[in-house]
Amino acid sequence: MQSKNLNFKCRLCNSININTIIILKGFPRAAQNFISNLNMLNKDEPVTLSVCQCQDCGLIQLRNRPVSYYKNVITAAGLTSAAKKDLKQEWLPIINKYNLTGKKAIEIGSGRGEFLEIMKSLEIDIIGLENSKRNIDLIEKKKLNVIKNDLITFTKENEKKYSLVVCNNFLEHQPNIKQYIASLNSLLNKDGILYISVPNAEYFINKSVFVYELITDHLVYFTEKTLIKALELNGLEVISSIKKNKDNDLVVIAKLAKKVNIDNSINNVDQIIKSLIKKVNKYDDVIIWGAGHRSITLMAMAKLDKIKYVVDSAKFKQNKFTPIIHKKIISPVDFCRTKCDLLIIMLPSNWSDQVVSFLKEHKITCKYLVFEDNILIN
Ligand SMILES: [Zn+2]
Repeated sequence: MQSKNLNFKCRLCNSININTIIILKGFPRAAQNFISNLNMLNKDEPVTLSVCQCQDCGLIQLRNRPVSYYKNVITAAGLTSAAKKDLKQEWLPIINKYNLTGKKAIEIGSGRGEFLEIMKSLEIDIIGLENSKRNIDLIEKKKLNVIKNDLITFTKENEKKYSLVVCNNFLEHQPNIKQYIASLNSLLNKDGILYISVPNAEYFINKSVFVYELITDHLVYFTEKTLIKALELNGLEVISSIKKNKDNDLVVIAKLAKKVNIDNSINNVDQIIKSLIKKVNKYDDVIIWGAGHRSITLMAMAKLDKIKYVVDSAKFKQNKFTPIIHKKIISPVDFCRTKCDLLIIMLPSNWSDQVVSFLKEHKITCKYLVFEDNILIN
């Protein structure tokens, strides 16, 4: 069923192409909506969940509003000693692999600081970012470093960078996934590592129990594919992706995606232009064959004012003028009637062979050069 509500946009890619999967009535208003006493039952209004999926990026999500406390981390029981041991075992190889000992790290949504405690014991210079006053007090009692803020405000207000950014099962609570991941991204230093864990929606879908996994606290439900896509759409490159806690959770480790580097191309094209100018300057009547986009760009970059004409077999280009250097484009027939000392053939792939055949066929004896990508072939 196609949604009629055009106001709702995908929480990740902003698309309005959203398919409703199911509408479910009578759900608990929030995971933390416990009723203090039975005289307050009027506070227990059920909600209707609108479960949908973005047609463009595939993200499964709820149209519902976030719960009132979505900026705070609410965790139930603390970690057992076995869970702490498991976490240490998970993190030791990560710390070694990415050389994180002694490096600056931040955990987004630190709850009561249990993860901070473990990372500190593993010699990581970690600080927490937590929005709940109650949690902050608990963290500070443990003499751990913590900043009171939410991620979006924090990244708007300062430009601190970290070697490690961790977000443990908190991303799925956020109403604007794109903005949230962009903020996580902005915390990474050049070689920084981002570690994100979320509940694994596929696990619950495959077990045919996805319906009771749904709760308004979790506004998005990632699969491995959509989590990777979410990071890639936000300038990150996923280095590894694993499942943990008996496949209940997904983990991805990512880094900043490399920007395309065209420095070589800039230097190379500069050399090409120089050699082209040198050749053109050696002759009186120079004609270029080819008014394709690369050829007209190169002529413009090299400012080849000295050339006489440009030849092109496309009728719609003939008798018009090239941009920037304003040289008349003539037909192959007109070319045969024109004096030419040097012909430079600038055509893609094997089109230049056809021009060479044309020259032979018409017994044209001028000197010609074939321009192939980066060299002039005699
Ligand atoms: Zn989307």
